Amino acid sequence: YAPVPPIFAKLGLAYDDVLLLPNETDVIPSEVDTSTHFTRDITLKVPAISAAMDTVTESEMAIAMARNGGIGVLHRNLSIDDQASQVDVVKRSESGMITDPLTVNPEATLADLDKLCARFHISGLPVVDKDNRLVGIITNRDMRFIASEDYDRLKVKDVMTKDHLITGPADITKEDAHRLLAQHKVEKLPLVNEKGELSGLITVKDFVKTEQYPDATKDAQGRLRVAAGVGFLGDAWQRSSALMEAGVDALIVDTANGEARLALDMIRRLKADPAFKDVQIVGGNIATRQGAQAMIDAGVDAVKIGVGPGSICTTRVVAGVGVPQLTAVYDAAQACKAAGIPCIADGGIHYSGDIAKALVAGADCVMLGGALAGCEETPGEKVLLHGKQYKLYRGMGSLGAMAPRGKKSYSKDRYFQADVTSNDKVVPEGVEGEVPYRGPLNAVLYQMIGGLHQSMFYVGAHNIPEMQRKGRFIRITDAGLRESHPHDIVMTTEAPNYTGFHN
Ligand code: 5GP
Repeated sequence: YAPVPPIFAKLGLAYDDVLLLPNETDVIPSEVDTSTHFTRDITLKVPAISAAMDTVTESEMAIAMARNGGIGVLHRNLSIDDQASQVDVVKRSESGMITDPLTVNPEATLADLDKLCARFHISGLPVVDKDNRLVGIITNRDMRFIASEDYDRLKVKDVMTKDHLITGPADITKEDAHRLLAQHKVEKLPLVNEKGELSGLITVKDFVKTEQYPDATKDAQGRLRVAAGVGFLGDAWQRSSALMEAGVDALIVDTANGEARLALDMIRRLKADPAFKDVQIVGGNIATRQGAQAMIDAGVDAVKIGVGPGSICTTRVVAGVGVPQLTAVYDAAQACKAAGIPCIADGGIHYSGDIAKALVAGADCVMLGGALAGCEETPGEKVLLHGKQYKLYRGMGSLGAMAPRGKKSYSKDRYFQADVTSNDKVVPEGVEGEVPYRGPLNAVLYQMIGGLHQSMFYVGAHNIPEMQRKGRFIRITDAGLRESHPHDIVMTTEAPNYTGFHN
């Protein structure tokens, strides 16, 4: 008679099951240092990442996240070309010195030029001949008095500035470039080598942006950093290569169960290929110590934790699988800390206090979906419901994302259903809904991270490692949770960091 195996493991805790204990402190909230690791080689000033979801992160959100000290992960529910071109848009949005500037040919029409400028949100381009020699520059100053009816007729060479061009040498310093721009009151400084070929471009906009966003997450060339999600089946390798060529800083092998053999194989293959040596590889998602160890053994540069905590996620009810997120983070972080690999708490963050709890449990940073879905910068239009503005937010495992009518879904393999060809046969693991419109990301993130600053004050931590050393939890009951939220009052005014970012 065989003994019953101990299949009932310990109790799993969610963010709402605990609170942080207040502590002796000399910390001033506005002075704390929230810098952290996103991956082995990428640091962030703000421990927040926007989720790889088609209602959260495209280039506009990724730019806003990086400017504000976090990073965005471009979703993968779109064609390889579209995803790679979004990486390009982020990488070209801001730069110390642009080493391969976009250019235009003198024979191009103004209509062509206009399209290019609109796509990359830029105000002008250097003009080069077929041998890449600089022959002029065309900016909105040259275009200001030209009627748009003439855009198809006129060519770049007809209106560009070609005399007395202000240029700098290829190896100019930042200070000299700034001096030249100021002295000649120009906004763009093309850099040319001894042969007259264009070798770079420096713009005033980039100097201004650096002052405006001192916390921005940037690469060695001063460009904003960006990450992107990839799968592990079909054209995943092609996708990864295209994203790498476009300059992506990190790839997230994005699956609902990171312990799947194929996902681990994909990570191993990416880490073994020298072509990807400058791209950080993140693996996910897992929710146990053993899962984190499998990712670490496969060679990842960061581990992403979370099975089923997401606000739009139904995995725990559809499959009955998951680990309450606080315990998942704590357990997985044990393996990550021992190996010196950063980890990301993904999903289930509703309030700023949850970020603090995730960090104390061992995460280096958090990934946010629903908390950011209402921002101006997310894809999609605002909709009006009962006199209030909302934005669409849906799970990547929802019917809308996995079985879109008349469109291809690229994300079904996240839920291991790539082989399901009929939309009626898709088994969703997420739902679709609306979240209140919240305005621009910087205001939303300010509140989320402002809450973390307050938390660090209460715990007595000047920085995140100290937060992790000093933070202690107390478990609470349902009555404790009720007491934690506003109660016995009819709320008449919304606080910018309450009513939930979701409700
Ligand atoms: P949130 O911040 O909204 O609580 O959670 C966002 C996270 O939920 C995402 O980063 C992703 O890991 C996960 N997720 C996104 N879509 C789905 C889905 O349809 N099903 C499941 N199980 N998880 C999802």
